[in-house]
This record gives sequence, structure tokens and C-alpha cells, in this order.
Amino acid sequence: MYTAESISKILKGELMQQTGYPEIEHILLDSRKLLVAETSLFIPLVSERRNAHQYIDELYKKGVSNFIVSEPVAAGLYPKANIILVKNTLQALHALVAYHRQQFQVPVIGITGSNGKTIVKEWLYQLLEKDYNIVRSPKSYNSQIGVPLSVWQMKPENQLAIFEAGISQPGEMVNLEKIIRPTIGIFTNIGEAHNEGFLNIRQKVNEKLVLFTRSDVLIYCKDYLALNECVNNFHNLVGKREIDNDLQLLTWSRKTDADLRIIGVDKNDNHTRIDALHKQEPLFIRIPFTDEGSIENAIHCWALMLYLGKPQDLIQERMDHLGNIAMRLEMKQGINNSSIINDSYNSDLGSLAIALDFLQHQRQHPTRTVILSDILQSGKSEGSLYEEVAGMLEKKGIQKLIGIGKHISREKQSFQKVQSTFYASTEEFLQKVNTADFQNESILVKGARVFQFERIGKLLEQKAHQTILEINLSAIAHNVKAYQAILKPGTKLMAMVKAFAYGSGTYEIASLLQFHGVDYLAVAYADEGVELRRAGITTPVMVMNPEPSSFDAILQWNLEPELYSMNILEQFEESVRYANKTNYPVHIKLDTGMHRLGFEQQDISELALRLNAEGLFKVQSIFSHLAASEDPAMDAFTKTQADRFAKMSAALQQQLGYAVIRHIANSAAIHRHPDLQLDMVRLGIGMYGVDSVGAFQDKLRNVSVLKTTVAQVKRIPAGDTVGYGATWKAGEPSIIATVRIGYADGYKRILGNGKGQMKVRNKLAPVAGVIAMDMLMLDVTHIPDVAEGDEVIVFGEDLSVQQLAQWAGTIPYEILTGISQRVKRVYYQE
Ligand SMILES: *Cc1c(COP(=O)(O)O)cnc(C)c1O
Repeated sequence: MYTAESISKILKGELMQQTGYPEIEHILLDSRKLLVAETSLFIPLVSERRNAHQYIDELYKKGVSNFIVSEPVAAGLYPKANIILVKNTLQALHALVAYHRQQFQVPVIGITGSNGKTIVKEWLYQLLEKDYNIVRSPKSYNSQIGVPLSVWQMKPENQLAIFEAGISQPGEMVNLEKIIRPTIGIFTNIGEAHNEGFLNIRQKVNEKLVLFTRSDVLIYCKDYLALNECVNNFHNLVGKREIDNDLQLLTWSRKTDADLRIIGVDKNDNHTRIDALHKQEPLFIRIPFTDEGSIENAIHCWALMLYLGKPQDLIQERMDHLGNIAMRLEMKQGINNSSIINDSYNSDLGSLAIALDFLQHQRQHPTRTVILSDILQSGKSEGSLYEEVAGMLEKKGIQKLIGIGKHISREKQSFQKVQSTFYASTEEFLQKVNTADFQNESILVKGARVFQFERIGKLLEQKAHQTILEINLSAIAHNVKAYQAILKPGTKLMAMVKAFAYGSGTYEIASLLQFHGVDYLAVAYADEGVELRRAGITTPVMVMNPEPSSFDAILQWNLEPELYSMNILEQFEESVRYANKTNYPVHIKLDTGMHRLGFEQQDISELALRLNAEGLFKVQSIFSHLAASEDPAMDAFTKTQADRFAKMSAALQQQLGYAVIRHIANSAAIHRHPDLQLDMVRLGIGMYGVDSVGAFQDKLRNVSVLKTTVAQVKRIPAGDTVGYGATWKAGEPSIIATVRIGYADGYKRILGNGKGQMKVRNKLAPVAGVIAMDMLMLDVTHIPDVAEGDEVIVFGEDLSVQQLAQWAGTIPYEILTGISQRVKRVYYQE
């Protein structure tokens, strides 16, 4: 049990103030994730952009009484708080959790490598959960922050721990090693992902190997030559440093002699049989997957099971039942205008908290519902476990709970504050449920694997049309942060969510942006803004194209119009006067050379007079738009625009007599013209993962993937033609795949007859013939084994939307915003 006093001793911190000895159970780093105030310890982290000390006040008011700080706080303000002063809060977090780790003697598996960490971790859990009480990292918690939060979960009842570790720059693994201290190591592989920040592969491998400095054994695949070489060097080093253990290497290989020598990989239908020699003995496993990644991941798990001395028949039986890992939280459209977040592969408190967070960000429906199974292996008594769950549901504003399972049903009385119903089993729920009971709500489906909640997911999800646009909300958040990281301190950020958030969906994106604290949102038309307000978005919203017919709605929903001409100003003035409002927030658009919308130089004096005349308006911002900020050849023109803006905005500001936010930079200007960041920037396309210049692309993550499926595969003889107008002729006997996307979905007709290509089975296939309304044909003659139902990538990670735009002779903006509304959007968070 920890208290502020014991923690201050562990950290050798200064206990600035102590008023009690409450037990500390939870570490809180993000003030928005507060669940149990009484037993939480808030550790405010400090980065270049954010100093979380500012949230102490808010959290104290919510009942948090334990704090570790690195800046003196006015303790008098918080008479009931226990406050520990340290030099650096991140280091304190690391030190505290490293201490916590040392209290346990159980085997700890540490996993690092470029790919597969999370799957190997989750599969090991699936393979071993019957034998051990296991604690593991939630999701892909593997960073400088994720690892301490994972390891902090270790409890005396755990018999095995599995943690993953990832690093983004040199020097980080030393910290993670101290916290995880793995006794068993797995190095999954080396790839090219996340290369920035590292000189070369060897440096990266060596850095990662630091994780195993004190391990007993390291499992890895010798076939990665650089990895093998680095491991052998590392092995010698560890020996020389005379650390307690001699590191045992446990290798596997498909090519050379190894502890586990793979001698056959046989794929058929949906299974792969893998044969190997282990200590001269022939063994095999069968897994229900056929892709190379899964095969590699399974072999790592196999080697580990052998190391643990598990009998071969048990390994075989469990490998045969390996399940899919949902790597991410997905939100899909559900029945009766609902949204479904399907997380039906595990249930533990850590992952429940993450899923509840996701649910909380999405506020478009009035009701939030959780369908929850028994929580297994929490190590707590049932009473206190479900009390805690009830507290979490209440904090996250959940109105409805459907509990499924004997244990949760037994603890009914804990859930009196929500509307709740209980079923003994998934079967019983499926028999009794009336789907009409779910209407316009966000529903989280969360259950342990044995409860087979995927069946509930199927029932509640809208039958998906097979062409979908997947949107990675975590990537959007990442991209926003990537731009924020290059903003000058104090610069505000306006996020452009016009045109259905560049095709990604308005309120899902706006909810996320609001959660991440952007200062402003901007839409093109008032009705887009109204939709945001209806969905519970409270962030200020600028409307760029206000029409007089929408002024009432603007005033009613507290939207802030862009005023760009005397005419529009006069009309809006009238509406404001009529509505009896004063100081109404507006934004003034100046034309500095784009010649689209905006006041001009000669309007400034009159404009200032009118704006001040009756006190009807409060100018929130003055802005202008750059016509060619992405183009180096136009930099002189950009400078002219910037100079005009500086002059005009200064004059207007001076005549208004108060300070106003000034902004001119769009995505490209943020990094190409940092001096134009001014008071605020307007981030558009970059947030959606596209840098129109290319120079900043490395810092961005791909956001959307447009995918469809093969409806039919045909073999046609040479000389036959394909599609309307018979414009494409087979030059050889050909294989043609018809896929479910056409120009009505936004796939441009100009991409017909080989201009456009799509990815099938990871290979590029050109479009054959012209594009029809709902379908098109691909020439897959040279791609083996294409079959009905195969996934087809239209654009995404490896086939960029920029490439597609280039083929179509247009810009990514047009492709993204042109994807039609009938294409279902699926949102996910990693
Ligand atoms: C669309 C838009 C932006 C964003 O431009 P990006 O190039 O997508 O960053 C900024 N300002 C205005 C006025 C816009 O209309």
C-alpha cells in the first residue's frame, strides 16, 4: 500500500504538505481521465507545449488529494492535499514504478521490436491465461508514459506479467528497462517503421536490446541478420558487465541451425501448419492464420511456450484456437441511428477505462450505453470490483448498462445509479433482446473473449456496404500534435472541419478535436456548425460562408460568422440588433490577394467605424487566406500577401481599439512560413495526413483508408472486351476482378482504362475499361489467387491519396472531399 508519505520516501522528494494518509492506488497523468478521485495520485507532466500543473486546481476541486509536482504550488490553496515536490515529474513517475516493479518476483516477459509487439503480447495472454493470473499492457501501451502505467498495474496475485516496450528516440530504453525489468525477453523483428531519430538499423537494434540487460533469456529470430549480429555483440557485453544473469539466447530460424529450427510452413485455406525441430525432436503447430506476420508472431509464442516447458500437445491445442486481436477500438454505424464501439475481445479495468474514454469523446447521441461482461482476473473481491466499475460508468456519464454474466449479475446492487438490466449469458441476452430498445445511442460492447460478444456486435451493427472509408482518429490526433509541436509558444490552433471534415465526417472529428483542446473549429456553412452544436460540441465555431438565410441559426446556436463584405455585415447587423444581442463574436476576412472573399484596403476605415458604432460586435479575429503558401516559386507573392495583411490588420486593430487574434497560415504555411503563424493558425489538410508540399509528410500519419471488395472474378479469352463501350480489350487471356466501387462513390471516371490502380493482395492492379456508376473492373491477370471477397485498397497507407490524385489529374483535397456519403465511415482509435 502506498501513501503520499511512503512515495515521498521512495522518491526522496520533499513532502511539502501532508494532511492525511489516504491509500494511493491509481496514477493519473491526464486530468481528463480521472476515474477514482480519492485513491488517485496526480503527476503533472511538463512538455514544451503543455504544463499539466495547470490542472491541479481543477483536480483538487474534483476530490484528488495526492500530487507530485515539480513546481512549487501555493499549498495554502489546497488545505487537504498531500504534495510531494520533485525535480522532474516524468523521472519521478519512472522511479516510482521501477520501485513498484521491484516488489515482485514473478516472471516478467518484455517484448520489443518493430512490428508484432501487441499481437505477440495478446497471443501469449490467450495461450497462457488458463495457467497464470496474468497482468499485461493495455492495448499498445508501450511508451515512456504507457509503460509505467502498465507496470503500475502489477498486483501480488499476478503470477506472470507481459509488457511491451517501444521507443521513438535513442536513450529511452534505459528508462523502460528499469521499469519493466523483464526476466524473459522477446525481440519480434526489425523493420523500417518509425525510423526517424535513428541513424541506422544497428543503432536502433542496440538501443532496443538495452531492455534485456538483466534478463535470463532472449527469444528472437536469427534470420534478421543485423539483429542476430547485434544480439551476439550484446550477449558478450552483458557477460562482461558481470550482471547477475548470463543471458541465454533462444533462437529460431527458417534457414539455419537454431534452437527451434523451422523446417516447413504449409498454408492451406485458413490454416497454416508449421513444422520444426526442437532438440532434434520433430514438432508442429497449426494456427488459424495464413499471413506472414501471424506466422512469425506465432513462432515467437511457440518458442516461449517451449521455454516455459509447456507440453507439446497443450501448445498445439491452444495454438489452434488463437483468436484475432482487435488492435483498435472501432466505431461503426449501428441500427436505429446508433453508433457501435465494438471491443469484444477482452475485459479488464484498464481496457475498460480506455474504451469508456473513447465513448466519452463521442457525444453525438443523447444516450451512452455499455454492454459489459463479467470482468475476469481483476484480483479484486467482486463487491469492490463492480463498485469500481459502477464508479467509472458514472464518471463517464453512462446512462444505460447491460450486464452479461453470472458475476456482474450478482452485483446488481452496485449499479443503481444507471439504468441497468442483467443477463446470465450472451445466449440469454440474444434470445431476449429487442433491438428496437436501442435508439440513437452510442453503445460500447465490451466483453471477455469467452463471452463471444462479437455476436452482439453483429446484431447491433448496420449491415455494412462493402465499400468503407476507415478513419484513424489516433492518427488525426497525432497529426494535430505534429503541427502543434512546431508552433511558437502561445499560438492558437483553428481546425478546419469544413466539407464533412475533408470527407472524414464532421462530428466524430470535431469531438476528437474538442477533446484535444483545439481553440477553434471552422466550417464552411452554418448548417455544418449547427450539426456540431447538436452533437454537443462547445468549442467556438467560425462559419466561413454565412448566408443571410442562416443568420438566425447562427445566432441561435452561438456560431461565429466570417464577415467579408459591407453588404453581409449590414445584413448581419440587422439580425444581431433584432435578436437584441451585443458584443456578438465575429471574424473579419481581409482580401490580401486571393480575390475570393474579403474586405479590401480601402474598406478598413469605414469597416472599423461600423464595427464599433453600436457595440453590436466583438471582433474575435482578423484573418486572410494565402493563395500559394505551398509553392516555393510563389514565396514572393506570399510575402506580398503577408505584408498587406500586417498593414491592414494593424490599421483595423488600431481603429477598433482592442486586441484581436490575427491569422493567415494554412497547413502548408505553418511549416513553410513559420513567421506567419501569428496568433493562430488554420490547420486543414495536414490534420488529415496529407502534406501538400511533401516536406512535412514524414511527421504525419496516414488517416484514411478507402477499401472495397471483389464481387466477382472472371477469366476471359484474349480479344474479349470489358465494360461499357467495350473500350478495353484483353491482349492475352485475362483475369478480371469486378469491385464494388464506382463514380457514384467518388472514384473519378477519368481513372478508367489503366489510369487508376488499386491494391489487391498487396499488388497493384490497373482499372480495366471505363468506370461504371457502382462498380469497376480491375485487371488482375498477374496477381495470383485473387478471389471473390478479397479486400481491395483504393487508397491508404501504401497507396497514397496523393498518388491517386495525381493519376486523376487533381489534388488530394478533391479526392477526399469527393468520397460520397453512401460510403460508410468507420472510425477507430488505436
Ligand atoms: C480550407 C481553408 C484552410 C485550410 O487549408 P489547408 O491547405 O487544408 O490547410 C485555411 N483557411 C481557409 C480560409 C480555408 O478555407
